[in-house]
Amino acid sequence: IQTRLPKVGTTIFTVMSQLAVQHGAINMGQGFPDFDAPGFLLDGFERAMRSGKNQYAMATGIAPLRQAIAAKTEAMYGRAIDADTDVTVTSGASEAILDAVMALVHPGEEVIVLDPCYDCYEPAIHMAGADAVHVPLDPDSFAVDWDRVRDAITSKTRMLFINSPHNPSGAVLGEADMATLAELVRGTRIIILSDEVYEHIIYDDARHESVLRHPELAERSVVVSSFGKTYHCTGWKVGYAVAPAALSAEIRKVHQYNTFCTMQPAQWAFAEAIEQHADHHLGLGAFYQPKRDRFRELLGQTKLRALPVPGGYFQLADYSAVSDLDDLAFARWLTIEHGVTGVPLSPFYETAPEGQRLIRLCFAKDEATMVAATERLARL
Ligand code: PMP
Ligand code: GLN
Repeated sequence: IQTRLPKVGTTIFTVMSQLAVQHGAINMGQGFPDFDAPGFLLDGFERAMRSGKNQYAMATGIAPLRQAIAAKTEAMYGRAIDADTDVTVTSGASEAILDAVMALVHPGEEVIVLDPCYDCYEPAIHMAGADAVHVPLDPDSFAVDWDRVRDAITSKTRMLFINSPHNPSGAVLGEADMATLAELVRGTRIIILSDEVYEHIIYDDARHESVLRHPELAERSVVVSSFGKTYHCTGWKVGYAVAPAALSAEIRKVHQYNTFCTMQPAQWAFAEAIEQHADHHLGLGAFYQPKRDRFRELLGQTKLRALPVPGGYFQLADYSAVSDLDDLAFARWLTIEHGVTGVPLSPFYETAPEGQRLIRLCFAKDEATMVAATERLARL
């Protein structure tokens, strides 16, 4: 078989989770909470399921959910969103990303990604027949070097991915980044794909700088988000894309032949959750902040050096004081010999910085899990 995706093997998340199971390790690798989704969400799902909401949904998403997303987005970012034309409910942010790339990027075009980046971007770009152009983030701060982005733009550049709060680093983009980005793409045909799945998980009273706050950027952006992150239910795989009508119309063409629609009962549960439990999404940063702080305090008792975490639920830890192994070998060793699983960073790069010794640990965990994991890490 002549493969469409020669660079793709099994994702690092699958590899590490399987290794964790095999060795009975505490899994701080793949990003998922070890606590359950809120009761109101589970109740909403059950009620929807028991009241017959079990057939195909409207392809673009049930109207109450699109309306709830539009109202919530408008309230948070001050941009008017038309629920009928601008919102498409998808089977996870992953589907939204694939739909957007397949719909909007043409063979032979270029898409800029900022390394390290989430692993589903590049395969989507390749499936669209386009080329991924990798621009490194600053290796210490994970800030965007906009001059390097500017240098990477050509007449073939069709799309630019940004991701804030950022997976894997937790870095967030600020207002100045948005202003520079707007200036950079002005007069080009570049579409921004803004991955905002961790939009509600931001710390220290910072505000999430959605592209939707910036009218000039919003006009040319596809924003993707994920209920999996916001409602602690990564296995439900429901997300959405918000984009101007003309872009959404193209995304919907792919969506309707990719999945057609997203599972119906979950959509009712999310519609109800957004409207009746706004304190949940508005309070998510406050919910995760004590977990972040506690995990960092516990890591302080180990030889790992914790990097700053302005957003998201991942902690990067520098292990150079305990090992010279490269990150893939270190992650395997840590799982097999010490019973803690993290995710190495190099799979998030085309070319990882020489000598980088970082591992990503997910702190969306209960106190007992954090304590048990860091007790093991303290023995390193
Ligand atoms: N983007 C980023 C940055 C993510 O971390 C994830 C989930 N790990 C996704 C997209 C995909 O989200 P979903 O599970 O809703 O498809
Ligand atoms: N988004 C999750 C992470 O970064 C992984 C999701 C997956 O396994 N595909 O850990």
